[in-house]
Order: sequence, then C-alpha cells, then structure tokens
Amino acid sequence: MTLFSKIIAKEIPADIVYEDDDMMAFRDINPVAPVHLLLIPKEPMVNLLHVEECDGIVLGKMMTKAGAIAKAEGLDDFRIVVNNGAGVGQTVFHLHLHILGGRDFSWPPG
Ligand code: AMP
Repeated sequence: MTLFSKIIAKEIPADIVYEDDDMMAFRDINPVAPVHLLLIPKEPMVNLLHVEECDGIVLGKMMTKAGAIAKAEGLDDFRIVVNNGAGVGQTVFHLHLHILGGRDFSWPPG
C-alpha cells in the first residue's frame, strides 16, 4: 500500500481540494510552485507503464477534471507533469498528475 492509498483511505491527513468516486486532488506537502496539487486515481496504478485499456476511463476523467481543479485555484495557465519512473523523479508509485502554477516555468523542463 502506498502513501497515496493511505491518503485516499483517510489514514494519513491531506489538504484535499477535490474528491469524487474516481479521483482525489490534494496539496503537495513539499510544493515547488505557489499552487502544487497532486491529482490521483483512487484505483491504484503504479505509473503509465502499468495501466490497462480499462484504466483509460478514469485517466480520461482526470484529464477532463484537471482544468476545472486548476481554475478553482485561480489558474488559467498551469503545467501538468507525470514523473514516470524513478529515473525521472517518481518517488510515490501510485500514478499522479502534478498540477503546478502560480509562477513562470521554463521550457524545456529541467
Ligand atoms: P513524485 O516525486 O512525482 O513521485 O511525486 C510525489 C510527490 O508526493 C512529491 O512532490 C512529494 O512532495 C509528495 N508527497 C509526499 N508525501 C506527501 C504527503 N503526505 N502529502 C502530500 N504530498 C506528499
């Protein structure tokens, strides 16, 4: 069981900003931008290399909801990041979208 499963189960507290039957969004405990949310599926998925065709329904719902969640934080411009694998910085192996905003971002990302 990952840390995020414990947050979903409300065994570990989090600053939850959105929740429905399929997903939850909460504030990152170590924000790297003025707004830094994590949007996760309630069904645990390790990362994008471990998803099934049927997971597409929830993943699609998450992408559809991400804009409204960002907008509710006052963001029109925001960046969504998925760290897929330890080599690019994934530390929690429960798929999550970082929703980042409130400052400038460079491109290409570091
Ligand atoms: P990643 O490194 O892409 O796997 O992202 C994991 C994120 O989870 C990091 O940005 C951490 O700061 C964040 N994180 C770790 N523990 C918690 C927690 N208890 N509540 C909220 N965010 C957390």
